[in-house]
Amino acid sequence: MLRVYGGELFTDFITISESTLARTFMINQSEIEQLLTQLHQRNVVIYEKQKDKPQLTFLTPRFDAPSLPVNVQELNRRKELAMRKVQAAILYTEHPTQCRTRLLQAYFGEKPGEACGICDNCLKKKKAVEAATTAIREQVRDYVALANGPGVSPKQLAHHFAQTDADSLAQLLKLMLAEDEIRYNKNGNLTLNLG
Ligand SMILES: [Zn+2]
Repeated sequence: MLRVYGGELFTDFITISESTLARTFMINQSEIEQLLTQLHQRNVVIYEKQKDKPQLTFLTPRFDAPSLPVNVQELNRRKELAMRKVQAAILYTEHPTQCRTRLLQAYFGEKPGEACGICDNCLKKKKAVEAATTAIREQVRDYVALANGPGVSPKQLAHHFAQTDADSLAQLLKLMLAEDEIRYNKNGNLTLNLG
């Protein structure tokens, strides 16, 4: 065998030809097979008999299913990561109030910037603010109208609308003055423009 196939036989599996060996030893092939099988049984060689079906050689070790060397920790980490991604995607699409752009920025680990002002949630918020402003504008109008004549001092007004954000109220009054809906009278009180 060593003469025919060389020293590599000691370190690697070599494809042999039973028929060539049989010719070399001038015996028939079944005898060669028998001899090799005997050597195999005596642990002298590892002999895999020639088969007539196509053979497949795995280049990496194969494991039985129950003893698979699975890295459970790594598997769980990946699973968790995948779950987090899915949850972030759900949050992105279903969040009822947050700016979508800011959600995206947070997802990609960026520091969320200003609200974009154009996504559906931003538009929803804008509409809500507009509706609230319109409602307060009407209330201010009604309140000033009640006191028409002497008018309402800005202090009284601020006191009456204490629940409303002071800046928003100041801006609203500025707008109402600019649009000449209300005016200051000579006493420095706000009155309705009835003209
Ligand atoms: Zn937005």
